[in-house]
Amino acid sequence: FAINMTQMQLLEELGRGNYGTVKKVLHKPTNVLMAMKEIRLELDDAKLSAILMELDILHRAVASEIVEFYGAFFIESCVYYCMEYMDAGSLDKLQGAGVPESVLARITQSMVKGLKFLKDEMQIIHRDVKPTNVLVNKRGDIKLCDFGVSGQLEKSLAKTNIGCQSYMAPERIKGESQNNLGTYTVSSDVWSLGLSMIEIALGRYPYPPETYQNVFAQLTAIVNGPPPELPPGHSTKAIDFVSRCLVKEPQSRASYAELLEHPFLVEDRTREVDMVGWVASAVAYREAQKSSASSTGTASPSNSA
Ligand code: ATP
Ligand code: MG
Repeated sequence: FAINMTQMQLLEELGRGNYGTVKKVLHKPTNVLMAMKEIRLELDDAKLSAILMELDILHRAVASEIVEFYGAFFIESCVYYCMEYMDAGSLDKLQGAGVPESVLARITQSMVKGLKFLKDEMQIIHRDVKPTNVLVNKRGDIKLCDFGVSGQLEKSLAKTNIGCQSYMAPERIKGESQNNLGTYTVSSDVWSLGLSMIEIALGRYPYPPETYQNVFAQLTAIVNGPPPELPPGHSTKAIDFVSRCLVKEPQSRASYAELLEHPFLVEDRTREVDMVGWVASAVAYREAQKSSASSTGTASPSNSA
Protein backbone atom coordinates (compact mmCIF):
# COMPACT_ATOMS: atom_id res chain seq x y z
CA PHE A 1 0.00 0.00 0.00
CA ALA A 2 1.08 3.60 -0.49
CA ILE A 3 1.77 5.91 2.40
CA ASN A 4 0.96 9.62 2.38
CA MET A 5 1.31 12.74 4.51
CA THR A 6 -2.23 12.74 5.95
CA GLN A 7 -1.39 9.47 7.72
CA MET A 8 1.53 11.03 9.58
CA GLN A 9 1.57 12.61 12.99
CA LEU A 10 4.68 14.80 13.09
CA LEU A 11 6.88 14.40 16.16
CA GLU A 12 10.32 15.88 16.88
CA GLU A 13 13.12 16.71 14.47
CA LEU A 14 15.84 14.01 14.42
CA GLY A 15 18.47 15.88 12.50
CA ARG A 16 19.41 17.92 9.49
CA GLY A 17 21.74 17.14 6.64
CA ASN A 18 22.93 19.03 3.62
CA TYR A 19 19.81 18.18 1.65
CA GLY A 20 16.99 18.23 4.09
CA THR A 21 15.45 17.58 7.46
CA VAL A 22 14.63 14.25 9.10
CA LYS A 23 11.62 14.11 11.43
CA LYS A 24 10.29 11.41 13.66
CA VAL A 25 6.69 10.66 12.68
CA LEU A 26 3.96 8.28 13.75
CA HIS A 27 2.27 6.46 10.89
CA LYS A 28 -1.25 6.49 12.37
CA PRO A 29 -2.88 3.61 10.40
CA THR A 30 -0.21 1.12 11.51
CA ASN A 31 1.00 2.81 14.71
CA VAL A 32 4.58 2.48 13.45
CA LEU A 33 7.20 5.12 14.30
CA MET A 34 9.09 6.21 11.19
CA ALA A 35 11.85 8.61 10.23
CA MET A 36 10.66 10.91 7.45
CA LYS A 37 13.26 12.74 5.39
CA GLU A 38 12.22 15.86 3.50
CA ILE A 39 14.33 16.69 0.46
CA ARG A 40 13.56 19.93 -1.35
CA LEU A 41 14.11 19.60 -5.10
CA GLU A 42 13.17 22.28 -7.58
CA LEU A 43 11.98 19.80 -10.22
CA ASP A 44 8.88 19.31 -12.32
CA ASP A 45 6.34 16.62 -11.39
CA ALA A 46 7.55 14.26 -14.14
CA LYS A 47 11.07 14.21 -12.66
CA LEU A 48 9.71 13.83 -9.13
CA SER A 49 7.59 10.85 -10.27
CA ALA A 50 10.66 9.33 -11.91
CA ILE A 51 12.52 9.60 -8.60
CA LEU A 52 9.66 7.87 -6.74
CA MET A 53 9.70 5.06 -9.30
CA GLU A 54 13.43 4.60 -8.88
CA LEU A 55 13.09 4.61 -5.09
CA ASP A 56 10.55 1.82 -5.36
CA ILE A 57 13.24 -0.86 -5.67
CA LEU A 58 14.13 -0.04 -2.06
CA HIS A 59 11.16 -2.20 -1.08
CA ARG A 60 13.34 -5.15 -2.09
CA ALA A 61 16.31 -4.04 0.03
CA VAL A 62 15.37 -6.15 3.01
CA ALA A 63 18.28 -7.24 5.18
CA SER A 64 19.11 -7.00 8.86
CA GLU A 65 21.97 -4.54 8.11
CA ILE A 66 19.83 -2.18 6.00
CA VAL A 67 17.37 0.42 7.31
CA GLU A 68 13.90 -0.60 6.15
CA PHE A 69 12.19 1.56 3.52
CA TYR A 70 8.46 2.21 3.97
CA GLY A 71 7.73 4.38 0.95
CA ALA A 72 8.03 7.85 -0.51
CA PHE A 73 5.72 10.53 -1.89
CA PHE A 74 6.05 14.12 -3.02
CA ILE A 75 4.23 17.32 -2.21
CA GLU A 76 4.99 20.41 -4.26
CA SER A 77 8.75 20.34 -4.79
CA CYS A 78 9.61 18.15 -1.80
CA VAL A 79 10.22 14.41 -1.78
CA TYR A 80 9.32 12.72 1.50
CA TYR A 81 11.15 9.50 2.15
CA CYS A 82 9.95 7.27 5.00
CA MET A 83 12.15 4.69 6.67
CA GLU A 84 12.58 2.67 9.82
CA TYR A 85 13.08 4.87 12.88
CA MET A 86 16.38 3.99 14.58
CA ASP A 87 15.97 5.00 18.22
CA ALA A 88 19.67 5.50 19.08
CA GLY A 89 20.40 7.70 16.05
CA SER A 90 23.51 7.84 13.90
CA LEU A 91 26.99 6.65 14.86
CA ASP A 92 28.62 10.08 14.54
CA LYS A 93 26.79 11.13 17.70
CA LEU A 94 27.51 7.91 19.62
CA GLN A 95 31.31 8.05 19.32
CA GLY A 96 31.76 10.54 22.16
CA ALA A 97 32.24 8.19 25.10
CA GLY A 98 34.59 5.94 23.15
CA VAL A 99 34.10 2.77 21.15
CA PRO A 100 35.88 -0.36 22.43
CA GLU A 101 37.51 -2.40 19.72
CA SER A 102 35.09 -5.31 20.15
CA VAL A 103 32.22 -2.91 19.47
CA LEU A 104 34.10 -1.43 16.50
CA ALA A 105 34.49 -4.94 15.12
CA ARG A 106 30.76 -5.68 15.49
CA ILE A 107 29.85 -2.36 13.82
CA THR A 108 32.28 -3.12 10.98
CA GLN A 109 30.86 -6.62 10.57
CA SER A 110 27.37 -5.16 10.05
CA MET A 111 28.64 -2.50 7.66
CA VAL A 112 30.52 -5.00 5.50
CA LYS A 113 27.55 -7.41 5.43
CA GLY A 114 25.20 -4.57 4.51
CA LEU A 115 27.48 -3.28 1.74
CA LYS A 116 27.97 -6.79 0.38
CA PHE A 117 24.21 -7.36 0.38
CA LEU A 118 23.64 -4.13 -1.56
CA LYS A 119 26.27 -5.11 -4.10
CA ASP A 120 25.43 -8.79 -4.54
CA GLU A 121 21.65 -8.77 -4.17
CA MET A 122 20.76 -5.30 -5.37
CA GLN A 123 23.67 -4.33 -7.66
CA ILE A 124 23.92 -1.08 -5.72
CA ILE A 125 27.03 0.86 -4.79
CA HIS A 126 26.30 2.80 -1.60
CA ARG A 127 28.22 5.99 -2.57
CA ASP A 128 27.74 7.74 0.78
CA VAL A 129 29.30 5.56 3.48
CA LYS A 130 30.03 7.69 6.55
CA PRO A 131 29.13 7.64 10.25
CA THR A 132 25.99 9.79 9.84
CA ASN A 133 24.61 7.12 7.49
CA VAL A 134 25.16 4.27 9.94
CA LEU A 135 22.16 4.07 12.25
CA VAL A 136 21.79 2.30 15.57
CA ASN A 137 18.89 1.12 17.70
CA LYS A 138 18.67 0.22 21.37
CA ARG A 139 18.54 -3.48 20.51
CA GLY A 140 22.14 -3.00 19.35
CA ASP A 141 21.42 -3.34 15.62
CA ILE A 142 23.64 -1.45 13.20
CA LYS A 143 22.09 -0.56 9.82
CA LEU A 144 23.05 1.42 6.72
CA CYS A 145 20.88 4.10 5.14
CA ASP A 146 21.05 6.73 2.37
CA PHE A 147 22.55 4.63 -0.40
CA GLY A 148 22.34 5.70 -4.02
CA VAL A 149 19.39 3.99 -5.70
CA SER A 150 18.02 6.82 -7.77
CA GLY A 151 20.16 8.22 -10.57
CA GLN A 152 17.70 11.07 -11.01
CA LEU A 153 17.83 11.94 -7.31
CA GLU A 154 21.67 11.82 -7.29
CA LYS A 155 21.77 14.10 -10.31
CA SER A 156 19.39 16.57 -8.71
CA LEU A 157 21.38 16.67 -5.47
CA ALA A 158 24.78 16.69 -7.16
CA LYS A 159 27.24 19.41 -6.29
CA THR A 160 24.83 21.33 -4.04
CA ASN A 161 27.24 20.86 -1.20
CA ILE A 162 30.42 18.89 -1.27
CA GLY A 163 30.76 19.07 2.53
CA CYS A 164 33.95 19.93 4.37
CA GLN A 165 34.66 16.42 5.66
CA SER A 166 35.01 14.19 2.68
CA TYR A 167 34.74 10.41 2.79
CA MET A 168 35.36 10.15 -0.94
CA ALA A 169 38.07 7.81 -2.21
CA PRO A 170 41.07 9.37 -4.00
CA GLU A 171 39.99 8.01 -7.41
CA ARG A 172 36.58 9.56 -6.99
CA ILE A 173 38.02 12.97 -6.14
CA LYS A 174 40.34 12.76 -9.16
CA GLY A 175 37.49 11.50 -11.36
CA GLU A 176 35.14 14.30 -10.34
CA SER A 177 37.76 16.94 -10.96
CA GLN A 178 38.06 15.52 -14.48
CA ASN A 179 34.26 15.34 -14.70
CA ASN A 180 34.54 11.61 -15.12
CA LEU A 181 31.96 9.81 -13.01
CA GLY A 182 32.91 6.42 -14.44
CA THR A 183 35.77 5.97 -11.98
CA TYR A 184 33.38 5.20 -9.16
CA THR A 185 33.39 1.50 -8.36
CA VAL A 186 32.34 -0.65 -5.45
CA SER A 187 35.85 -0.36 -3.99
CA SER A 188 35.28 3.38 -3.47
CA ASP A 189 32.84 2.35 -0.71
CA VAL A 190 35.60 0.25 0.88
CA TRP A 191 37.75 3.38 1.23
CA SER A 192 34.85 5.24 2.89
CA LEU A 193 34.33 2.25 5.20
CA GLY A 194 37.98 2.41 6.34
CA LEU A 195 37.81 6.15 6.91
CA SER A 196 34.56 5.79 8.86
CA MET A 197 36.14 3.11 11.08
CA ILE A 198 38.98 5.44 12.05
CA GLU A 199 36.49 8.22 12.76
CA ILE A 200 34.42 5.88 14.95
CA ALA A 201 37.54 4.78 16.84
CA LEU A 202 39.01 8.29 17.28
CA GLY A 203 35.73 10.10 17.79
CA ARG A 204 36.73 12.66 15.16
CA TYR A 205 37.25 12.93 11.41
CA PRO A 206 40.68 11.38 10.63
CA TYR A 207 42.30 14.10 8.48
CA PRO A 208 43.88 17.01 10.38
CA PRO A 209 41.54 19.71 11.72
CA GLU A 210 43.44 22.34 9.67
CA THR A 211 41.81 20.83 6.60
CA TYR A 212 38.19 21.11 7.90
CA GLN A 213 37.92 24.73 6.79
CA ASN A 214 39.60 24.26 3.47
CA VAL A 215 38.02 21.79 1.08
CA PHE A 216 40.91 22.07 -1.36
CA ALA A 217 43.55 21.29 1.28
CA GLN A 218 41.51 18.33 2.45
CA LEU A 219 40.99 16.84 -1.00
CA THR A 220 44.70 17.36 -1.75
CA ALA A 221 45.60 15.49 1.45
CA ILE A 222 43.32 12.59 0.48
CA VAL A 223 44.70 12.37 -3.06
CA ASN A 224 48.39 13.11 -2.41
CA GLY A 225 48.98 12.34 1.26
CA PRO A 226 49.47 8.98 2.95
CA PRO A 227 46.24 7.21 3.97
CA PRO A 228 45.23 7.65 7.62
CA GLU A 229 45.76 4.76 10.02
CA LEU A 230 44.27 3.51 13.26
CA PRO A 231 46.50 4.79 16.08
CA PRO A 232 48.81 2.37 17.93
CA GLY A 233 46.98 1.00 20.91
CA HIS A 234 44.64 -0.81 18.59
CA SER A 235 45.24 -4.48 17.85
CA THR A 236 47.36 -5.39 14.84
CA LYS A 237 44.27 -7.14 13.41
CA ALA A 238 42.27 -3.93 13.50
CA ILE A 239 45.14 -1.81 12.16
CA ASP A 240 45.73 -4.25 9.31
CA PHE A 241 42.01 -4.43 8.46
CA VAL A 242 41.76 -0.65 8.14
CA SER A 243 44.96 -0.50 6.08
CA ARG A 244 43.41 -3.02 3.61
CA CYS A 245 40.48 -0.60 3.15
CA LEU A 246 42.56 2.58 2.88
CA VAL A 247 44.72 1.55 -0.06
CA LYS A 248 44.94 4.51 -2.42
CA GLU A 249 44.99 2.36 -5.55
CA PRO A 250 41.37 1.08 -5.91
CA GLN A 251 42.34 -2.17 -7.66
CA SER A 252 44.53 -3.18 -4.70
CA ARG A 253 41.91 -2.47 -2.03
CA ALA A 254 40.28 -5.44 -0.26
CA SER A 255 37.02 -6.91 -1.59
CA TYR A 256 34.07 -7.60 0.74
CA ALA A 257 34.80 -11.33 0.55
CA GLU A 258 38.38 -10.69 1.70
CA LEU A 259 37.23 -8.38 4.49
CA LEU A 260 34.76 -10.97 5.79
CA GLU A 261 37.59 -13.52 5.99
CA HIS A 262 39.97 -11.09 7.69
CA PRO A 263 40.95 -12.16 11.26
CA PHE A 264 39.44 -8.91 12.62
CA LEU A 265 35.95 -10.00 11.49
CA VAL A 266 36.45 -13.76 11.91
CA GLU A 267 37.35 -13.14 15.57
CA ASP A 268 34.22 -11.00 16.01
CA ARG A 269 31.99 -13.89 14.97
CA THR A 270 33.13 -16.03 17.90
CA ARG A 271 32.98 -13.30 20.55
CA GLU A 272 30.19 -12.14 22.85
CA VAL A 273 29.74 -8.38 22.51
CA ASP A 274 27.30 -6.49 24.71
CA MET A 275 25.98 -4.15 22.02
CA VAL A 276 22.81 -3.35 24.00
CA GLY A 277 24.95 -2.20 26.94
CA TRP A 278 27.27 -0.17 24.75
CA VAL A 279 24.39 1.59 22.98
CA ALA A 280 22.74 2.40 26.33
CA SER A 281 25.94 3.97 27.69
CA ALA A 282 26.69 5.84 24.45
CA VAL A 283 23.15 7.29 24.37
CA ALA A 284 23.38 8.27 28.05
CA TYR A 285 26.69 10.05 27.39
CA ARG A 286 25.27 11.88 24.36
CA GLU A 287 22.21 13.03 26.32
CA ALA A 288 24.38 14.26 29.20
CA GLN A 289 26.58 16.22 26.78
CA LYS A 290 23.50 17.71 25.15
CA SER A 291 22.01 18.91 28.42
CA SER A 292 25.29 20.36 29.69
CA ALA A 293 25.74 22.15 26.34
CA SER A 294 22.24 23.62 26.48
CA SER A 295 22.62 24.71 30.11
CA THR A 296 25.85 26.61 29.33
CA GLY A 297 24.38 27.96 26.11
CA THR A 298 27.10 26.52 23.88
CA ALA A 299 26.27 24.34 20.95
CA SER A 300 27.64 20.82 21.15
CA PRO A 301 30.58 20.25 18.82
CA SER A 302 29.70 18.38 15.68
CA ASN A 303 32.21 16.26 13.86
CA SER A 304 30.13 15.42 10.87
CA ALA A 305 29.66 17.25 7.61
P1 ATP B 1 24.31 14.41 4.59
O1 ATP B 1 23.31 15.43 4.27
O2 ATP B 1 25.70 14.85 4.30
O3 ATP B 1 23.99 13.06 4.02
P2 ATP B 1 23.39 13.39 7.15
O4 ATP B 1 23.48 11.96 6.79
O5 ATP B 1 23.72 13.75 8.57
O6 ATP B 1 24.33 14.25 6.20
P3 ATP B 1 20.55 13.27 6.76
O7 ATP B 1 20.64 11.97 6.04
O8 ATP B 1 19.59 14.30 6.26
O9 ATP B 1 21.95 13.97 6.82
O10 ATP B 1 20.18 12.92 8.26
C1 ATP B 1 20.19 13.91 9.28
C2 ATP B 1 20.28 13.24 10.66
O11 ATP B 1 19.04 12.62 10.97
C3 ATP B 1 21.29 12.11 10.70
O12 ATP B 1 22.58 12.59 11.02
C4 ATP B 1 20.73 11.20 11.79
O13 ATP B 1 21.25 11.57 13.04
C5 ATP B 1 19.23 11.45 11.73
N1 ATP B 1 18.53 10.32 11.06
C6 ATP B 1 18.48 10.08 9.74
N2 ATP B 1 17.76 8.99 9.45
C7 ATP B 1 17.33 8.50 10.64
C8 ATP B 1 16.55 7.33 11.03
N3 ATP B 1 16.07 6.49 10.14
N4 ATP B 1 16.32 7.13 12.35
C9 ATP B 1 16.83 7.99 13.27
N5 ATP B 1 17.58 9.08 12.97
C10 ATP B 1 17.84 9.34 11.69
MG1 MG C 1 22.18 10.61 5.94
